[in-house]
Amino acid sequence: MRVSRSIRPAGTLLTATALCLGLAVVSAPGAAATTGTGHAVLGAKDGWGSATTGTTGGSRADAAHTVTVRTRAQLVAALGGTNSTNGSNATPKIIYVAGTIDLNSDDSARHLSCEDYSTDGYTLAAYLAAYDPAVWGTAAVPSGAQEDARDASQKIQADKVQINVGSNTTIVGVHGGRLLGGGLMVKNVDNVIIRNLTVEDAADCFPQWDPTDGATGNWNSEYDAVALYNATHVWVDHNTFTDGANQDSAQPLYYDRPYQVHDGQLDITKGADLVTASWNVFKDHDKTNLVGSSNNSPVDSGHLRVTFHHNFWQNTVQRSPRVRYGQVDVYNNYYAPESGDFEYALGVGKFSQIVAEANYFRLPSDIAAAKLIYNWGGTALTDSGNLVNGRATDLIGAFNAANPTTPLAAGAGWTPTLRAQVSPARAVPWLVSALAGAGRL
Ligand code: CA
Ligand code: CA
Repeated sequence: MRVSRSIRPAGTLLTATALCLGLAVVSAPGAAATTGTGHAVLGAKDGWGSATTGTTGGSRADAAHTVTVRTRAQLVAALGGTNSTNGSNATPKIIYVAGTIDLNSDDSARHLSCEDYSTDGYTLAAYLAAYDPAVWGTAAVPSGAQEDARDASQKIQADKVQINVGSNTTIVGVHGGRLLGGGLMVKNVDNVIIRNLTVEDAADCFPQWDPTDGATGNWNSEYDAVALYNATHVWVDHNTFTDGANQDSAQPLYYDRPYQVHDGQLDITKGADLVTASWNVFKDHDKTNLVGSSNNSPVDSGHLRVTFHHNFWQNTVQRSPRVRYGQVDVYNNYYAPESGDFEYALGVGKFSQIVAEANYFRLPSDIAAAKLIYNWGGTALTDSGNLVNGRATDLIGAFNAANPTTPLAAGAGWTPTLRAQVSPARAVPWLVSALAGAGRL
């Protein structure tokens, strides 16, 4: 077992326990143990995550639960020991992720390929043969032996690449901290902080064909880079989310549809609530931020309250964010979509109450301001002080002029009060370019 070295220069203490676990203890007795990024908490009035009890993550962790990890096995050990049950480990813990962790790896840090997860006779070739629309038709979702095998194979990969995080946890990247090939599942928990991490290419080896999705069918995948599922008090700050070297544009077409191996970058669903997402970079990705996954989801009513501020959506296609149900405050964000596949920025869905204020949109000449909003069955949003290429722009007016049969009203019906850091919209491009993302803390 390889023992990682502490990343903090002063007061480092390696205990026998840590050696045994392959973990380096980075906090030491004395004042140094209570300072530093790992102990930071979300500030007062800094978005919905600061409401009620606030978000303190693992800041109360003792020295034995303040560790640096460099492999998947060390990360799982630090989160409690067993990935499938770590979601219920509520011990306060601060975990520094140092360098790149390949989540597609076994307990000896050996890389696992898609073939290593395949079971019950699944092969892509056999799957494609079984559900070819010419054979299977387009009326029903796949079922049968190859679909069962795909599902079983996907679940084996999920146990490796979806890392379950329990309550009262802070995860911070240091020295280029990066999770590659998967992400974090924050499910049925409270009080989690994720900062300064790059979360890259959470690719699903086993996309599912759904001929009933859209007019032409779609390939859909399972993993979000960070999934907040019935989680409360979460602060996601200064992270970089990217498809990295595995861009969608390089994927093949099957049945004339893109073989989509990615899902969301930060998706917030199933009654999740009280979330602040600040100073993140969401880039080179299709479906970035889903808030609410169903039009008929009573558990989301009164929940899905999220603040997005000072984030950078760079070359993303859609969902920045797409909202159902929630009161979602979107202020001081920088949007820089690129020509080609851009669809929309703000998705106004059923029962959504988006407040979009003082954001800056840098648009190429072939993307009109009218495309910044898409109406997914919503009724209204608040749009104020937004700049498009430096000019004050009425986003709702532009949308309604282009979409007279599905207009949106002005006024989300609530006024955000939890804003600790408000910048002039004109300052947002340079401020966010300079300071957002991993490696800037
Ligand atoms: Ca998702
Ligand atoms: Ca693009």
